[in-house]
This record gives sequence, structure tokens and C-alpha cells, in this order.
Amino acid sequence: MLKLLRELPPVHQIQEALLKEDRGRELPYNLLKQLIQEEVNNLREALIKETYTGKARDRHGFQAEIIASIKEKMASMKLNNLIPVINATGVVLHTNLGRARLSEAAIDHMTKVAKSYSTLEYNLSEGKRGSRHSIVEEAVCKATGAESAMIVNNNAAAVFLILSALAKEKEVVVSRGELVEIGGSFRVSSIMEESGARLKEVGTTNKTHAADYEQAVSDETAMFMKVHRSNFAIVGFTSEVEREQLASIAKKQQVIFYEDLGSGALYDFRKNGIGEEPTVQETLSAGADLVSFSGDKLLGGPQAGLIAGKKELVDRLKKHQLARVLRVDKFTLAALEATLWEQLYENETNIPTIRDITVKAEEIRQRANQFKVQLEKKCSHYKVEVEASFSQVGGGTMPAVELPTYVIAIRTDKYRVNELEEKLRLSEQPIIMRIKEDKLVIDLRTVTTVEEAVILSELANIHD
Ligand SMILES: *Cc1c(COP(=O)(O)O)cnc(C)c1O
Repeated sequence: MLKLLRELPPVHQIQEALLKEDRGRELPYNLLKQLIQEEVNNLREALIKETYTGKARDRHGFQAEIIASIKEKMASMKLNNLIPVINATGVVLHTNLGRARLSEAAIDHMTKVAKSYSTLEYNLSEGKRGSRHSIVEEAVCKATGAESAMIVNNNAAAVFLILSALAKEKEVVVSRGELVEIGGSFRVSSIMEESGARLKEVGTTNKTHAADYEQAVSDETAMFMKVHRSNFAIVGFTSEVEREQLASIAKKQQVIFYEDLGSGALYDFRKNGIGEEPTVQETLSAGADLVSFSGDKLLGGPQAGLIAGKKELVDRLKKHQLARVLRVDKFTLAALEATLWEQLYENETNIPTIRDITVKAEEIRQRANQFKVQLEKKCSHYKVEVEASFSQVGGGTMPAVELPTYVIAIRTDKYRVNELEEKLRLSEQPIIMRIKEDKLVIDLRTVTTVEEAVILSELANIHD
């Protein structure tokens, strides 16, 4: 194979060949050169390591091989890697698909702020420097009843900041039933270790009592931390200490009571008979000194970590060096601000996450039936059924909740179900859906009417 090294064509020769065909002009000169160089380097390395599996044995063969591979790369280079997809899985907060979709108001506000200069750190009435912390603080306080609030990059960052700023080299008491790992990358015990705070575990996996917390307190204790279990539930013989009681022990012992709420709902989903998630407002009024939660879970906003609670504590967080490291950009603040005002004005159904979670099964059933009629009219090859099923909230939120829904189950004799799934997944506007047995399953809960039309026409195209 080493002998073949001599047959590798020089970069300029390949570039000239591509330029002659006009294909070479689709990319800027230097970018094309770089691509060719990488390709030649890869081939050289494969030859040296004797891992080359291609068929080329002379200069001409190598050149043809390199050009074919460059053309393939050029086709995919024009595409962005982050592209919109249609989520037909019915999982509302689909972590892999970007969690919450934003409301029109949030998108609009974000676009406006992106196009212009803004009051990001400018106080208009005084005509001088302002603070980005104050932009959504008022809205968060109004929505949660907190004295003070601040925003960081995500909830994991909020947890890290709170532990670093308020409990470094001190002990943080956590129930063993709450030492969770969320989404494979957020582990309470690890983040605690990174922050410099020391974990003091109390109780057992299923039961933790007030006395466990009381006995754990020493001169070293900075904080009681309560963590939302998020993506799992403990059932059977369980016992945990009520918030009010934990708050009163914390107060008596003069330690901070902080709760990591995870999803942190501002909207009370229990009103719709969904789940048992207490609102952020309730948690704070039950006596938590500080809470933190995500912006893109049940709030339905952008990725962010919201911190709310006692002014004295939030002030300490704002002054900490990490606050600068973990700060959010103007787009996040714009989207978050608009989302919070939608909640405050009780226009929650303008927020896609809240609308999709609370939509009635009957409404989905009617849409599914119409979809079936239209698909059968467009394309008689499909066997379509509407079936009762369940959707999930997702995002590690309300894991025990099953939202009743109706799904469209599709089959065809022309393709196997995984071929059909792949065709739709790789279509121009990718459609992500579930497979159940030999059927493709579409849950319209997370699909807009515009997207519904796209799915219909893609399905029809496949059979043409
Ligand atoms: C989701 C979650 C986090 C992480 O929040 P991000 O916003 O994804 O960083 C932390 N704690 C709990 C309890 C969670 O549910």
C-alpha cells in the first residue's frame, strides 16, 4: 500500500479538475482547497496505516475517488446542521428535539431585539448604564411572588451557582431519596462536588423524616436542599418531609432552604386534572428561601435557569463571579420576558408547551379523523386507523403522567414500517415519529396544522 502513496494526486490538480466542471465554483476557492486537502490527508493516512479499502490503484483512480467524495460533502455542506423538524411523537418537551417551542410573542420579541440595538444594559429613564439582571426580574417576581430573581444559562447552572455562592466548603443536607441523575448528565452529587459544597446525605431512598434533617445540622451546615425527582417516581412505602416543616426546621436552625424544582410550573396543570406538580408560587409561599427551575420545561420558554427567592440571597448570587460566567444573552432575555408576560396576562394557551399539554383528547381525535380521511383520499395505498393512546409530557417532567390522546396508525404494503419511517425522517422537512409493531404512529398533539399538511403531502409523495 505504501507504494500507492506516490499515486496520490496533488491538491491543485484535483481543484483544477473540479473547477473545469463548474462544480468547483460552488464553494469559495480556499474552502474547496481545504476540503480537498483533508480528503488527500485522510487517504494518505489510510494508506500508511494499511486501512485503505477503496479500489483506486493509480493517480486517475484516486482523483476520481476524491472528486466523488468532495461532491458528496459539498451537497451536505450547504445545509445547516441545526434544522427544524416536525415532532409527531406527541412528546411535548422532547429533549432531543429542543424541548419547548416558543410562543409567537416570544419569537417576535426576540427578532426585534436581534435586529436593533436594545436596552440590554441601559437604563432609559436615567440615560445611563443599567443592569441586564433587572430585565425580567419584575416579571419573575410578579409571576412567582418572590422578592427577587435572576436568570442564568440553564437550571443546571442555577444549581451550580447557588451551591458555589452560598454553600462552598459547607454542608448541604439532601435526602437520599432525592439524589437523582437527570438526563444522564446532571447528577446532584457530582454538581455538588464541583461546586465545592459538601453533600450530607440523610434518610433512606424511600423514607426521610424531619428528625433526619434536624440531626444532620451542625456548625458546618449551610443549606437544606430539596431536589425534584423529575424523571422518576418512588412508589409504595414512602415518606418525605413536607415543605412547610422543612422550612420551619431550616428557619429555626438558621440554614438556607433551597429547592431545585426542575420543571417549575407557573401554570397550575392540576386545574386541567394533569399531574400533581405544585406551582413555583406555592413552593415559595410554603417557605422555601430560594428556588430554581428551567426556562424550557413547563414554563415553555427558552433555555434558561430561573432563580427566585429572598432578596438577600439573590443579591449574593448576582455579585458572585460566576454570575458573569453563567449569564444569558439578549435573545434569551427577550424570549423569556415575552413568555412570562403571556403567563402573567393568563394567555397561557399562546404558549405551545402549555397548549399542547392541556389540549383535550377529543380535539386531537377530531383532527386525527380528518387526517385519516384526507390521507385515504390522497393515497389509497395506506391503511389508516385512529387509535386511543397516550402522549407524554417529556423532558423529565411529570414522568407518571399519561396524557390521553388519539394517534394515527399507518401501514402500507409497498414499504416496511422502518423504511417508511426512514423516508419521512429524511424528507426535506424531517418528520420524527414512533413505530408501534408494524405501524407508523403519528400523534398530532405536538403537530401544528401547517405541519400536518406537510406530513400529508410527504406521505402522498412517497407513494407516487
Ligand atoms: C431538568 C432538571 C435540571 C436541569 O435543568 P436544565 O435547565 O436542563 O439545565 C436540574 N434539576 C432538576 C430537578 C431537573 O429536573
